[in-house]
Amino acid sequence: MNLFSDPMKAKQYINWRYIDIPSPHNKNGTWVDYHLNDLAVWMPKFGHDVQIVQTHELYLQERMIKVVIELVNKRNAVREILNKYRKENPFPKEWIPIDPLCEQCNRIATTRALEVNLDKYKVHYICDECKSEGWSDINKGKLTWRLEWLAIWYVLNVHFEPYGKDHATPGGSRDSCIEIIESVLNHRGPYGFWNEWVGYSEGQKDFGDMSGSGFIGFTPTKWLEYAEPEVLKYHYLKTPPKRRIILGLDKIPSYIGDYDRAQRIYYGIEPFEDSAELHTIQRSYEITHFNNVPEYRGFQMDYQQAIILSQLVSPDQEGTQQAIKKLHATEILKEKVTEEIVDHIQLRLTLSRNWVTSKYAPDHLRIELKEEITPDILNAYSERIRNVVFDLGKILKKTKWTEEEIKQKMMDLREKAGLSRKEMNQFFQMLYQIFLGNIKGPRFAPFIAALDKKWVLRKLEEII
Ligand SMILES: [Zn+2]
Repeated sequence: MNLFSDPMKAKQYINWRYIDIPSPHNKNGTWVDYHLNDLAVWMPKFGHDVQIVQTHELYLQERMIKVVIELVNKRNAVREILNKYRKENPFPKEWIPIDPLCEQCNRIATTRALEVNLDKYKVHYICDECKSEGWSDINKGKLTWRLEWLAIWYVLNVHFEPYGKDHATPGGSRDSCIEIIESVLNHRGPYGFWNEWVGYSEGQKDFGDMSGSGFIGFTPTKWLEYAEPEVLKYHYLKTPPKRRIILGLDKIPSYIGDYDRAQRIYYGIEPFEDSAELHTIQRSYEITHFNNVPEYRGFQMDYQQAIILSQLVSPDQEGTQQAIKKLHATEILKEKVTEEIVDHIQLRLTLSRNWVTSKYAPDHLRIELKEEITPDILNAYSERIRNVVFDLGKILKKTKWTEEEIKQKMMDLREKAGLSRKEMNQFFQMLYQIFLGNIKGPRFAPFIAALDKKWVLRKLEEII
């Protein structure tokens, strides 16, 4: 991941400012540069008119210097407010709300501020780590974190800020920060509401809440390998903020399915009865698109379909054209393809190919066509099942090669043959064995429709 390969090397940077830590991968850059590069790639895809502000730059601004001076000058009033909530461990009288930088060992979290000279904008400190004592520039250090939080509200004029539930306890960090900004700085605090944390799962296993420090979860960059940013935004918006969201990359097809459904409902392609739920879906979809919903492109490339097709065509433009041809032939795509539709199909093929070849996809969705039918496959099933499979071949010969027709013919055959549920399972198992050498596979009708008809028929004839 984004860590040092040598933990011993990383150890020396404990308690350093992030801007001073070198990048774990790039000799010239810093830790911050490295992560900012990543951020610059994904942030514009999820956000809208986002401007990234770095705190160390903020500390150089006049408005920030003004508020730091004011908070230091009014530190007694600040301390009284904070100590109301710190009965156990109150700040002492001589408390100065600054974390100075140690000029000797370059650490910031190991120092204590002893006095300040606000004319020179310097702070006198002692460092518990290297035992040195000295003066350093206030703007090389920082305000203690609560005060930094409210100073940022003040300097950036924040009006609204949602926050995790850990800040929401009465008398907790947010309450005390609001009290300080309003009574000490005479400035209105931002409106906000709390939301539940986001959990991370793989399969049935819940790994707990996502966290940056111990790294539980996935990066937005990872998400973009498998799905569009709108899909994630919609999922967040649709879920009530006080309900826990559990995200797992193995569930990507289901998130995309939900988003595509919302799109169909939004454009009136799919009816939806429940009016309260309908409103939530519509508004979530609108906000996903920043209230500027584009016109409907006319076609949705189903992700499950894309998972199948992406494995049968090459990953280049020619492959996309082959896929489009297939979609036309199987009557899944009836529309005239615009440039927008081609781009959409190409993107979904790429995303689904990335996903199905990743560790998050189950093995049975990976397609490796089997050329040979071995006798053990045939022997594993009863004569009755073998005959139904053979009959399927005869029926499919006269079937128009579309997903719908194939599905219909299979249902007819099931009825005619009078297969029980158990026999039906064996019937499908045998089919997957014949084509994939596996007892499970992608959904059968779309899978078969995506294959070459002649090749399918030849395989089914071979079993006799
Ligand atoms: Zn030091």
